[in-house]
Amino acid sequence: MKAEARHSEIHGTGLFAIEEIEKDEPFLEYVGNHLNDEQLWDQFYSTYGDNYKPGDLHVWAFEVREGLYIDGDVPENIAKFANHSCEENCEAILDGDQVWITAKRDILAGEELTFDYRFPLRDFLYHPCRCGKSKCCGYIVAKEERPKLKKILMRQAPHKYRLKTTK
Ligand SMILES: [Zn+2]
Repeated sequence: MKAEARHSEIHGTGLFAIEEIEKDEPFLEYVGNHLNDEQLWDQFYSTYGDNYKPGDLHVWAFEVREGLYIDGDVPENIAKFANHSCEENCEAILDGDQVWITAKRDILAGEELTFDYRFPLRDFLYHPCRCGKSKCCGYIVAKEERPKLKKILMRQAPHKYRLKTTK
């Protein structure tokens, strides 16, 4: 095992490299119970009842692809502790129905391991990002959705983003 879970400055418990990890190395499987759509909703409702807010589903289950999810809340799955970052050093790569946390670059022992959670834009307000990177867009949103998010944020609070308005 090349990673361990411990306290993170980003959020709660994070995942950290305990030895060097090479670029493109799939070093940790995201394990858990595979669920189809029906099982996902059954379990989601039995966990949350009606007390959920939009976006909870993304936090709770890992979407492998449409119609296939992993409930990673099992003790052997330390990959669930990996935080999101806007400048991530890992990515979740699919191998059939399995998900592997894979290094995007060479990683040193002690670095926090992060990946892009790829949350959809529509629920962004429920998932503020605290990754602290200079490129942080403020919310946990899939990389390709971030330019759209920026436009929304600028429209809502132009003064915050130093946008010059012309009349
Ligand atoms: Zn961020």
